[in-house]
Amino acid sequence: MYGVSRFLLLAFFSLASAAILKADPLGLVLPTKNTAIFSSDPSKFYMYTNRNFEGVNSKPWEGGTYGFSRNGKRTSIGIVNTRLHEGIDIKPVSRDSSGNPLDSVRAISRGTVVYVNSTSSHSNYGKYIVVHHDWGDGPFFSLYAHLSSASIKTGQKVNAGDTIAKMGYTGAGIDRTRAHVHVELNMLMSDRFQSWYDRHFTSKNNHGIFNGFNLSGLDIAALFKMHKANPNISIPEFLANHEEPYYKVGVPKNGKLDIIRRYPWLGRNMNKALGAKSWEFTFARNGIPLSVSPSSKSLKYPAVTWVKSMQTNHSYMTVSRISGTGSSASLTASGSRYIQLISEGF
Ligand SMILES: [Zn+2]
Repeated sequence: MYGVSRFLLLAFFSLASAAILKADPLGLVLPTKNTAIFSSDPSKFYMYTNRNFEGVNSKPWEGGTYGFSRNGKRTSIGIVNTRLHEGIDIKPVSRDSSGNPLDSVRAISRGTVVYVNSTSSHSNYGKYIVVHHDWGDGPFFSLYAHLSSASIKTGQKVNAGDTIAKMGYTGAGIDRTRAHVHVELNMLMSDRFQSWYDRHFTSKNNHGIFNGFNLSGLDIAALFKMHKANPNISIPEFLANHEEPYYKVGVPKNGKLDIIRRYPWLGRNMNKALGAKSWEFTFARNGIPLSVSPSSKSLKYPAVTWVKSMQTNHSYMTVSRISGTGSSASLTASGSRYIQLISEGF
């Protein structure tokens, strides 16, 4: 009897602790006091952009949303927004008498500050902060840009909701009226970013691996909403539910892929990796990798192996990483550079 009840008690506690570990692994909170992302009026949450489309000026709040929300182009399938906004632009909720925003910017989850850019002229982001989050599925990085000032230092640990900065309007294409915080949640493309950068650019990289080119932004707005509905969600579950495959790229296999070491959940059929000749990456429109599988196909160079059929140029749909129409496509120069970075083929 004693033995049985002790067993039951142990079983109960291990179940309870498993439940505690699993509940809200991301622990997300909004980065400012502005909570209108969950309201029926998103225009109170997003800072508008100044749009000029075919000579008509407007200030659409949609320009501040994540995704293909900018640079509309008239195509055979209608107007397509060709520019990807990799984060969200959040409006201030309070300003001083001169119109300067007063909002505090807070960490969206527990983590460690890994980078602070305090020289606004060094980046289009102006002054920005990067926080590393370890949620058990590889490293993710939240980024907070156009800050007035940072109130934390590199190496500092933060909790969800801790103030890290003051909202501002530093960086390119932004002024006091449009002051906002631009917030991203990123995957890291390469730990050896500097050698890729040196191959393609002559200017100085001031930001180490936390250069915008090395960070690919997830749909953070959709993540906030999905997390509110289901606080147990993980990033791989979020991507599987939210993102749709748009194209696949085969890459010659030269050993292991560092991105799979970093994000093991990307790997599919990895038991077949040993004899494989190439890797096949699946990407969403925004360039986020959704999976990687070993393939028996021999390839000399990276090449598009599949694309979703579309009756307009794929370059409009993929930030010009691939081009072509219908069900055929090929990598552009910028697409090749992106594949080179993500597969460390440099
Ligand atoms: Zn932005």
